[in-house]
Amino acid sequence: MSNHDAAAKPPPHVLIFPVPLQGHVNSMLNLAELLCLSDLHVTMLLSDYTHGRLLRHASLHSRFSRHPGFRVATISDGLPDDHPRVGERILDIVLSLKEVGGAQFRHLMESTEGLSDGGARRRVTCLIMDGVLSFAVPVVEEMGIPYIYFRTISACSFWPYFCIQEMIDAGEVPLKGKDEDKLAYWEKKEMDLIVTSVPGMENILRRRDIPGFCRVDDIDDPGFQAIKTETKKTVKATAFILNTFEDLEGPVLDQIRKHMHNMYSIGPLHTHLKARLESKGMETSHHSSSFWDEDRSCIAWLDSQPANSVIYVSFGSITILTKDELFEFWYGLVNSGQRFLWVVRPDSIIGFDSGNWNETTKELEEGTKSRGYMVGWVPQHEVLHHPAIGAFFTHSGWNSTLESIAIGLPMLCWSYFADQTTNSRYVSDVWKIGLDIKDTCDRIIIEKMIRDVMEVRRDEFLQRVRCLAELAKKAISEGGSSYSNLNRLIEFLESTV
Ligand code: UDP
Repeated sequence: MSNHDAAAKPPPHVLIFPVPLQGHVNSMLNLAELLCLSDLHVTMLLSDYTHGRLLRHASLHSRFSRHPGFRVATISDGLPDDHPRVGERILDIVLSLKEVGGAQFRHLMESTEGLSDGGARRRVTCLIMDGVLSFAVPVVEEMGIPYIYFRTISACSFWPYFCIQEMIDAGEVPLKGKDEDKLAYWEKKEMDLIVTSVPGMENILRRRDIPGFCRVDDIDDPGFQAIKTETKKTVKATAFILNTFEDLEGPVLDQIRKHMHNMYSIGPLHTHLKARLESKGMETSHHSSSFWDEDRSCIAWLDSQPANSVIYVSFGSITILTKDELFEFWYGLVNSGQRFLWVVRPDSIIGFDSGNWNETTKELEEGTKSRGYMVGWVPQHEVLHHPAIGAFFTHSGWNSTLESIAIGLPMLCWSYFADQTTNSRYVSDVWKIGLDIKDTCDRIIIEKMIRDVMEVRRDEFLQRVRCLAELAKKAISEGGSSYSNLNRLIEFLESTV
């Protein structure tokens, strides 16, 4: 690993530009810190809105104060502050940035001489950007700056996105019926047809497992089109990064590699970062990058629960539930008789004031009081590490999935949309480390599946997920695939000077 003499030879300067959402920002901040550890200069480009959330709720400054080469720059996402930025409305962020982002990005880069800090650092030498922000490309191309795409999703969900045209040609997408009654839509038999047009996944994906953004009626749907065309542009990037590891997604990575030769699988990033901090003797305690205040009272509650007895329930930072879905989950949890810690984000229930729990029944209240704990947001890494946790009931966001795998926790998956619908299929049918109940939201099924993952089938899932956890550890250890790939990436970034 290189050490730069800052005075004599300023290090490369990498600009990192995530889609301004919690999951994307978490992965990219981990990459930013890994690059800082190799003495590279890093500027993180955030939306004003996201930056404000991090300043209010996270510990960004204390985390990065030990890395003098780290800076933040901001642009607007073009949406009003009171835009919800959750659920399907997150596509508005991508579409709005597509509208207003190009001009702002150009202004930022030109008015600051490529963010060179008045000459104190090099102007940006490489841009690492989320794979759906191609409006930035003409600007960096004109400035002669190479760019790398970093998709913060799994390889197994990126690959179907990449093959959308093939799926259209085969009549397998778009999936019709988005505006129909949700339950009727889910029950359609055609959702269980096997997808044949995604190479390497012929025996894996059913139509219901295709990434959720393909669940559109209209082939011209702007979000669907944006994902399709943006993903195809990946091949034009100088390189491609994924937060995954070879032993987990090797066959899919091989498919992708046929199109993107300069690819770096460097995950799981959160444990990779921890390992490299430890190897440098640096402190690794929890630094929040949360958009909400973390409620630490859940840790004290977990401390008082028996080992492996609690199912942790969280549907991430974007999922929204209807009131009916909330109650189906709640009854399922209470009726399962298991202990549970449930994150219900303040903005996550449609048509239900989260402060108003008057509609609950005595049954739910008593079950929750004796066995449950509900909070608005938690320090998830700490929760997953807690000995009281026995399984993770998740929406299958990619960060959550990797965090669960890296710790060796079985999963129960209720995917909501986007890449999650494919991730949950891989959890249940490829890695076989949990159960997938996508497209159902019925208290009886939920109750049964919670018992299955916590008791009946726990050992079988545990055995496999612990093997994967070992492989994840191997990947980020010296000589492992992610470890070597990160070193190669750093060498590549150094070569861009
Ligand atoms: N997370 C957290 N506290 C919570 C819920 C989630 O810190 O109460 C973190 C979690 O560790 C993960 C991220 O938020 O890193 C969610 O990203 P993911 O890709 O799992 O899902 P998304 O929110 O993007 O749907």
